[in-house]
Amino acid sequence: MLITFEGIDGAGKSTQIRKLRKLLIGEHIDSITLREPGGTEVAEKVRQILLESRHEISPIGELLLFSACRAELVQQVILPAIDNGTTVILDRFFDSTIAYQGYGREIDQIMLQTVITLSTFSLQPDITFYLDISPENALMRKFSEKSLPIAFDESELDRMERSGLDFFRKVRRGYLDIIHKNERRFVLLDALDDPQIIHKRIIASLKERFPV
Ligand code: C5P
Repeated sequence: MLITFEGIDGAGKSTQIRKLRKLLIGEHIDSITLREPGGTEVAEKVRQILLESRHEISPIGELLLFSACRAELVQQVILPAIDNGTTVILDRFFDSTIAYQGYGREIDQIMLQTVITLSTFSLQPDITFYLDISPENALMRKFSEKSLPIAFDESELDRMERSGLDFFRKVRRGYLDIIHKNERRFVLLDALDDPQIIHKRIIASLKERFPV
């Protein structure tokens, strides 16, 4: 089974993924957690280029780098794990591409779909949890974790953070549009709720959709 988590930066995906993984371990369910971009040696290196680079990367360059990471991860790790009966928990998948590169960077959706089909080998998640949060709240959350000084210097921000609030507003709108078109696959969660309540909702949705 493939379970994916989506949301803008600072939505709290990592916390929920940790909780779910702990639960699956407790129930002796074979599982792995992976993140995009990352999860293979090459993809982790490309992640550094994508996320830490102070250089600007063109929208198409960014799309292809994210997609290269995905192709590596899907072929080398995810598909073999699923074939083996392992539950894969994935922090971001192609919905991120549609939201960030499609709605955020405004790359043509038809072109995106071709690249997505190629890089995912047509793999679809069984269920996707989307943690919804406004960009304002998400950035506040991120900055408070980093304890940045109130008057921060722009050079303290990573490349994505420098994209600004407007960018993240477009990404969030993108996610909400994607959910509207794929209601059966998605579970929409309010990221401002208490993390334990969100976790319980996640468990309830899994039990409801995949009764044992
Ligand atoms: O999920 P995480 O915060 O680790 O994502 C890493 C970064 O990559 C985030 O800043 C996110 O905004 C960015 N990203 C992106 N396009 C994607 C996937 C992630 O810009 N398709």
